[in-house]
Amino acid sequence: MSFDKIKGNQKLINSFKDLLKDGSFPSCSLFYGQRGIGKFMTAFEIAKAHFCTQTAGEDALFGESRDESRPCDKCPDCTRAEKRLHPDFRVVDASFQAALLDEPVEKQRALKIDSLREIARFAYEKPYISKHKLIIIDQAETMTVEAQNSLLKILEEPPESAKIILVSNDKNLLLPTIVSRASPFRFLPLENQDLAEILGNFSIEYSQAQFLADISGGSVAKALEFASILKEVKSKRHLGKLLAFSMLPPRSQAYEQRAKTALVLDFLISVTAAGKINPPLSFSQKAAEVNRLLSYSSWLKHNVSPRVIMQLALNDYLKFGDFAFGEKI
Ligand SMILES: [Zn+2]
Repeated sequence: MSFDKIKGNQKLINSFKDLLKDGSFPSCSLFYGQRGIGKFMTAFEIAKAHFCTQTAGEDALFGESRDESRPCDKCPDCTRAEKRLHPDFRVVDASFQAALLDEPVEKQRALKIDSLREIARFAYEKPYISKHKLIIIDQAETMTVEAQNSLLKILEEPPESAKIILVSNDKNLLLPTIVSRASPFRFLPLENQDLAEILGNFSIEYSQAQFLADISGGSVAKALEFASILKEVKSKRHLGKLLAFSMLPPRSQAYEQRAKTALVLDFLISVTAAGKINPPLSFSQKAAEVNRLLSYSSWLKHNVSPRVIMQLALNDYLKFGDFAFGEKI
């Protein structure tokens, strides 16, 4: 992978490379910004660069030391870190917690104190093979208050040989005492062109990638979710009024039903606001439609049935026409 393949936020990435080169990467940093813009990926490459032990190919012949600022992606340490098997590396996320608690991954919606206790134990032990341990806490904003307090204790007595990277989609959900102890790095949304190119790597054809880039606010995660909704709507469109029902998960999965409905509403709002409907809506039609969809979003928060909302939201779109891909159609 290496930093070269990460799109967007190049200034920030260059400053990380400088910090790695100087060996002055902060002991606790906070990568924040909306989801799906490369925060975790960047943190992961930093971890690999941190553990990489390769003396880089040709440079080694001339007795030069390796470039500390990038992972070689070939040495055993890069490989171990890549597979999350490096003994001095931990990624705290839903999978980590699921393994720790021996529970299904999909049940891990919050990072609990158990995970942070485990990380505290890990952080204060001496590194096994590297100079420093490295801990990435992904979606740090999902930590419960107890978990955050447990993290705070670690930050108040920083372990000598562990570095922590907090990755967060919403730093306002973190305790101010945590935020103030971390070096902040703000990631920006991706440019549309960069986003469209990334979507191309997921086998999404060009005009559709452009369309998704225009409606996804610079987030790869959002664009990929929208791609799946678009595919589903197009393949089930012939069902007419049954479309809404066919898109909902079973009634027993209440959480998933709400999440799917919220995603469909987000998709429809983004498509409408960006004017990507064929035939085009007039300005007043567009404004009325966005307002209507926004009120459905608020109904969803007030426990109105997702089945009702999904049906109301989608039925109008069947009347409107089709989603416009780029400028070509
Ligand atoms: Zn390496």
